[in-house]
Amino acid sequence: MMKKRIGIIGTGTAGLQLAYSLKNDFDVTLFHYEEPDEVRHGRIRSTQVHFHPTLDREQRFQMPGTDTAPSIQTIHFSMGQQKLFVGKLAGAATSVDQRMAYSKAMDDLVQQGVNFRKTRVARDEIHALAESFDLLIDSSGKSGPLPAFPVEAGLSPFLAPQRKCIVGYFKGVAPVEPEGISITVVPGAGEMFEIPALTEQGAVTILFIEALPEGMLDVFKPVKSAQAFEEQMKSMLRDHFPEIYSRVDLDRFALANETSYLQTAVTPVVHRPYLMLNGTLVLGCGDSVFLGDPITGQGCNTASYCAEQLYETLIAYKESAWDEKVGIDYWSRTRPYVAEVTEWTNAMTGPMPEHIVQMLLKAAADQQAADQIAHWFEQPKKAHEAFFQQTY
Ligand SMILES: Cc1cc2nc3c(=O)[nH]c(=O)nc-3n(C[C@H](O)[C@H](O)[C@H](O)COP(=O)(O)OP(=O)(O)OC[C@H]3O[C@@H](n4cnc5c(N)ncnc54)[C@H](O)[C@@H]3O)c2cc1C
Repeated sequence: MMKKRIGIIGTGTAGLQLAYSLKNDFDVTLFHYEEPDEVRHGRIRSTQVHFHPTLDREQRFQMPGTDTAPSIQTIHFSMGQQKLFVGKLAGAATSVDQRMAYSKAMDDLVQQGVNFRKTRVARDEIHALAESFDLLIDSSGKSGPLPAFPVEAGLSPFLAPQRKCIVGYFKGVAPVEPEGISITVVPGAGEMFEIPALTEQGAVTILFIEALPEGMLDVFKPVKSAQAFEEQMKSMLRDHFPEIYSRVDLDRFALANETSYLQTAVTPVVHRPYLMLNGTLVLGCGDSVFLGDPITGQGCNTASYCAEQLYETLIAYKESAWDEKVGIDYWSRTRPYVAEVTEWTNAMTGPMPEHIVQMLLKAAADQQAADQIAHWFEQPKKAHEAFFQQTY
């Protein structure tokens, strides 16, 4: 029997995990507008923390791992200048530069016989493309979606970005100990995330500012060069993050290279991830349909969770027709998780609720409470419970 044909648009976290999981049972074609080498030498894209449930899924589908990435074991949390606690994660997390991870996986998939077409799929090509496949998956990331998936109004309260995202990959910052992610909240202005990561240039420290638009941290707009970015980050650390500044070696402090910085902003929005086009099922997976602010570091984890659920759905329907029913099943499997992560993430962009402030203060004197907060990032359901059900 002929294998069913699946077209996957985009070779990011969602598209790549889908390709690995589906390639043995189906005839998979990947669409992307760059060769692996162009991805490898492009600009940074994310801070890409993969928490342990995502790493477990990548292992399940035999995706290439990177053992040399710094092992992220803890979450350090400070409020203003006050260090509150260090929570221990249940399992180690990693951050591997997406340019490195994506290009490696693309090369590997092609070697394993997955079809690759170098093209940027245009919105008006979707109809024609759908006709050549039994299923088309839009995993084109935050520039999507390509087809007109309807917006889920109840999960999409914003009309504009809630943060400016300012990211640089730096050399010359001594890591926090024990090694982990450090989060500093500056009430009314935003957050700073410090993340140890692996790149082609070796180990780096990611400095990631989430600035409230027009607030005190939103000062990178005029920055147009790597050198200006370095200078602005240096004064930002000196003026607002003295603890990080105390770990900077001023002689070595520099971006890993001239493509290692990024400024962006996303308007969070959730779409219903299925529709029929001329009799072909089209599904969405990852940021194209489930787009959140990076403040909770959940985008890759949501993309990976939903990609696994999509795999399970397609295997369950392997021998039957692929129609709207399959889309409804996929959405009913993923909707609870997407709703929890979205509501938690959206709440994090607002003022911190008083009962959460109390939990953070309690964690300063209670290691178990600190660990439980660290686990929010691995199991967003727990964060959602803490924010909305107050079961603590
Ligand atoms: C500043 C920042 C920090 C972040 N930090 C974290 C974090 O710490 N942890 C975390 O889990 N998430 C984080 N995220 C989010 C995370 O990076 C994304 O959620 C994740 O990469 C989504 O995966 P994806 O496969 O949906 O999209 P992507 O990884 O963006 O991949 C989409 C792919 O589709 C391609 N594409 C786009 N349009 C087309 C087209 N028309 N035709 C063909 N190909 C196309 C793109 O080039 C890309 O290869 C962060 C995001 C930002 C912006």
